[in-house]
Amino acid sequence: MDTQTVIIAGAGPGGLAAALALQQRGIKVEIYEAVTKLKPLGVGINLLPHSVAILHKLGLKEALERYAVKTSELRYTNKFGQLIWAEPRGLAAGYDYPQYSIHRGMLQMTLFEAVRKKLGTNCVYTGHKLEDWQAYSDHVKVQFRKADGSLHEVSGSCLIAADGIHSVARQKLYPNEGEPLYSGRVLWRSISQVKPFLDARSMIMAGHQDQKFVAYPISQVSQGLVSLNWIAELRVPNYKAPASEKSQHWNREVSKSRFAAEFEPWQFDWLNIPEVIEQAELIYEYPLVDRNPLDRWTYERITLLGDAAHPMYPIGSNGASQAILDADKVAECLAEQGNIQDALLAYEAARRLPTSCIVLSNRQNGPEQVMQMAEERAPKGFTSIHEVISRQELEEMSARYKQTAGFALSQVNKA
Ligand SMILES: Cc1cc2nc3c(=O)[nH]c(=O)nc-3n(C[C@H](O)[C@H](O)[C@H](O)COP(=O)(O)OP(=O)(O)OC[C@H]3O[C@@H](n4cnc5c(N)ncnc54)[C@H](O)[C@@H]3O)c2cc1C
Repeated sequence: MDTQTVIIAGAGPGGLAAALALQQRGIKVEIYEAVTKLKPLGVGINLLPHSVAILHKLGLKEALERYAVKTSELRYTNKFGQLIWAEPRGLAAGYDYPQYSIHRGMLQMTLFEAVRKKLGTNCVYTGHKLEDWQAYSDHVKVQFRKADGSLHEVSGSCLIAADGIHSVARQKLYPNEGEPLYSGRVLWRSISQVKPFLDARSMIMAGHQDQKFVAYPISQVSQGLVSLNWIAELRVPNYKAPASEKSQHWNREVSKSRFAAEFEPWQFDWLNIPEVIEQAELIYEYPLVDRNPLDRWTYERITLLGDAAHPMYPIGSNGASQAILDADKVAECLAEQGNIQDALLAYEAARRLPTSCIVLSNRQNGPEQVMQMAEERAPKGFTSIHEVISRQELEEMSARYKQTAGFALSQVNKA
């Protein structure tokens, strides 16, 4: 019986980063993933400097920079494209580490390759879906359902469940929780090959809480074009997914006719949104959902990590960043504490409250509050933003969110 190996369920960015962080600290680890073959799924994702610091520490700088764009600035505008607030990001803002815009699939595949290389392929099992576990005084037994229907049982020191927003582990711990909670808003996500805008590394958010457009490049300029990741968002009070599908499915392909007409007037002199939508490759529909923060993640020898622990609205670039912060912390605690349960509790003590605050802040639009404020105060636009929102208010909102999400300049550079 193995009482040393840490068992991880889920090879998303959170589970993979945890595997690497544990291996780096000399802890044996095995990782089990439900899908039989990992594919580079998803569209763009952002990594904030505090999570990039961790990835660099794991030796991934060079591999990531083959794909990632170093985001230079973030701009919020109203629905007419008028500037509300702009701030430098990553290295341009004085951080020791960049902010990355990257294809989610390339992030996951980069981490996966690193895990296979560093742990060895015999520690990575795809086609293994977490089903159940039992905790004993000195070990945990975990059962995975294999793709061929058979059951595979392993034992280890503890189980880290990094199995995403539909976590089986969370469902077993909280059987009455039900489906994720719908916000009343739907996202359509895609990538278009378009001419670069602003400095070709800018991230922009236009509109307000009922209609929003987010865009940022996830490639360098090549032959005059960039891969522009974008998200169109609309309020849809009575959203219904096709009956055959789980309502929160990351890969549901739909046609642009579901939303494109609403964005037809959004033709700014610096970005023509209808043209961007027109150039789209596949478009994915996803309802904006999260779950309520939990009072507890750790039960004996199992704990939750990443989206399994704290699924949040993709606002403020925090989904993957916070999962990576969890990964680093759980590895640090397991390396430092002799007792496994104390280590998991120490990890939870460090991470549960901060991430709960982000979940709740994102329900109030997080740093994007400034867009809603501009819409409410000046629905027909403005001549000068400072007649609508003072510079001080804008600065305070930006600084407050960075503090909440743990990436104020002083927090990152000091660490
Ligand atoms: C297919 C997919 C596409 C996504 N696309 C985007 C995107 O475009 N933009 C964005 O911002 N976010 C996207 N996300 C979410 C984003 O990856 C997460 O919010 C964030 O990176 C935190 O990662 P995580 O590892 O905690 O969770 P996830 O990325 O959700 O990873 C969870 C992993 O666990 C696996 N798994 C699930 N159930 C089990 C089980 N029972 N046993 C074992 N393994 C299991 C899943 O297959 C997945 O690989 C996507 C998630 C998925 C699964």
